Amino acid sequence: MSEPVPMSLSVPTQKCDGIEDGSADDGDSIPESNVWGRLLTINKIFPSINLIEKEYSFGRGKTCSVVFNSSEQQTSKYFLAYSSTHFKIIRDDIKNYAYILDLSSNGTYVNGEKIGKNKKHILENNAEIELASKTNRVYVYIDTNANEDSSIPAIVSEKYIVSKQIGRGAYGEVKLCFVRGTCDRFAMKIIAKKTFTHMGPQALVFNQQIKSECTILQGVNHPCIIRIHDVYETDDALYIILELVEGGELFDRIVAHGQFDEATSKFLFRQMCIGVQYLHERSITHRDLKPENILLTLPDTNETLIKITDFGLSRLINETSLMKTFCGTPNYLAPEVLVNRGEGSYTNKIDVWSLGVILYICLVGYPPFSESPDSPPLTEQILKGLYTFPAEFWSDVSEPAKDLIRQMMCVDPNKRLTMSAVLEHPWLANDQENTSRVDKIMHPIQLPTRSYKRSATDDDSAMDEDVDTPATDTSTIGRAKRVKY
Ligand code: ADP
Repeated sequence: MSEPVPMSLSVPTQKCDGIEDGSADDGDSIPESNVWGRLLTINKIFPSINLIEKEYSFGRGKTCSVVFNSSEQQTSKYFLAYSSTHFKIIRDDIKNYAYILDLSSNGTYVNGEKIGKNKKHILENNAEIELASKTNRVYVYIDTNANEDSSIPAIVSEKYIVSKQIGRGAYGEVKLCFVRGTCDRFAMKIIAKKTFTHMGPQALVFNQQIKSECTILQGVNHPCIIRIHDVYETDDALYIILELVEGGELFDRIVAHGQFDEATSKFLFRQMCIGVQYLHERSITHRDLKPENILLTLPDTNETLIKITDFGLSRLINETSLMKTFCGTPNYLAPEVLVNRGEGSYTNKIDVWSLGVILYICLVGYPPFSESPDSPPLTEQILKGLYTFPAEFWSDVSEPAKDLIRQMMCVDPNKRLTMSAVLEHPWLANDQENTSRVDKIMHPIQLPTRSYKRSATDDDSAMDEDVDTPATDTSTIGRAKRVKY
């Protein structure tokens, strides 16, 4: 193994793309063509780095080219699990590729796979690097020689570095992107216009609607509602830059837990209600509330902020979306929508119904309506409000919770609660502890960074405790049981 190449990286400077490199001047002296790769941070306590030299070492040791010793890094729970030299990134000029060499005791991971001490792994464009635990995501590697995604138009790529795909929806893909200049991260939803060609002349109107809706949504500002940061349009596609949310969908969380206990359900549900109430106050109806459209900010805990998503588009998509829903499951559709097959005019009470269905599912892990040989067709169940609370599954759930569901899933929209009334219902209003928890997560107070002193030793053995176990979530003990979707 060759020795680390000495570098002039004593005090890295922010430059060009907001990315650090070896220069200590204003950065303009390093031609872009010399940069063979970039490590873009997906963990704000690590700086992004332009890779110019042949070899880089990373770790707590003072001789590393990139030393992990900032105060934020020192207060991170993973700090002591980083080795003196945790990993290296090396460019092989002859074979024209870069690889990562794991030198750590607690592991270096690429796309969630542990490399293994003293082993190499070829770095491919968009590879994600995790340190000491596969959940401690730190960098995305960008190979500057890899063909840029030519489908991304210049107006977008001059502002954003578009990275890997993080999701795929009904209308296109969602990619991770970084703002050039700051490396702030966002999700980029790409909606190809050809998706709408089947609409014929309607497509033009639809397009217009999407744009004006995006403008409205850019004015929406609430902690429980996804933020639209930016929108670009070309002849072929729409690029919607959204706040990045990394904890996945409520749907998957319910499936993983089987169901939530009442306290967790209430904690997440109150946030959904506050977010939807905010929309209703602004005359916006979501129209497509379902657990797939509720995103969670934190991956490892249910003590997390929720973000309602897809409301703008679903509102516009209107018939198309409803048609899609008719083709799929109508599980969350209010009876009045179903009866008119999406063609009538509705009030925002359709959202209250959908939230009632979501609450039902959170509490027991199965939906209120489902097809079975000995029950009426699904649509009839919904139109007549034929749902029950079988004691077998509901005996642990409080009466006020069931009462709230009944008042939200009331077939007559005139008798159904409004969102304000939902929030005033005793199940939500009389739980001060839950209200404070929700207030705290929605409006966190930024505490000053704790000062931290590490012992003088730089010896891995003293520090390489195994931190590979995710923090235990005591807020939720999912009564893992059945999920009947
Ligand atoms: P659909 O339009 O079918 O509801 P989306 O296009 O909204 O689906 O999202 C598809 C997937 O992309 C989601 O399941 C999620 O995994 C991911 N995704 C969407 N928006 C974001 C976001 N803001 N942050 C992170 N991931 C997202």
